[in-house]
Amino acid sequence: MPKILVHTCCGPCLIYPYEKLKDEGFEVFSFFYNPNIHPYGEYLKRLATWEEFVNKFQIPYENLNYEPEVYFQAVNFPEKDRCLQCYRLRLEKAAKKAKEVKFDYFTTTLLVSPYQKHDEAWEIGKSLGELYGVPFFYEDFREGYYHGVEKSRKLSMYRQWYCGCIYSEIERIKEKEEKRKRREKQDESRIIG
Ligand code: SF4
Repeated sequence: MPKILVHTCCGPCLIYPYEKLKDEGFEVFSFFYNPNIHPYGEYLKRLATWEEFVNKFQIPYENLNYEPEVYFQAVNFPEKDRCLQCYRLRLEKAAKKAKEVKFDYFTTTLLVSPYQKHDEAWEIGKSLGELYGVPFFYEDFREGYYHGVEKSRKLSMYRQWYCGCIYSEIERIKEKEEKRKRREKQDESRIIG
């Protein structure tokens, strides 16, 4: 049975890739390395949700220490490349680990979210696979995104409302504020009209 290390960004995003890879005959190992999650309280919530899931389904796993300073060092230049640096940081740890434990493949749950830069994550994974000599396994897991959402709700799992870093939290808050303002304007014009 081929062994695959799955870099896991959070519990809900692991659901579909785990089920799919198991069906495809892989032995799945979940690897949690996410120094991009801020603040620390949010990190702990996501970590606890993931731990509960892997324990419930008896998935072998490992989580590395929280090191937000490493994330900030990695993204501390060209702001426009922030997410790509973030992917590289996390996937490089995964590739190194997969090599160290002699796994056949590695992959990432980033491939399940329609909100991530899918092709870029794939490219980065592929190039790291070549660099470390462990093939990056690609599959378009986005087809199972809503299955994961449904199942995580049934399991009462915590679902985050922003990607992870402080920048993404700010972006989401601003988006919400913009939407609220647009709605207010529409309501006003309906009343005046
Ligand atoms: S938005 Fe998400 S992927 Fe991009 S840098 Fe922040 S945590 Fe990483």
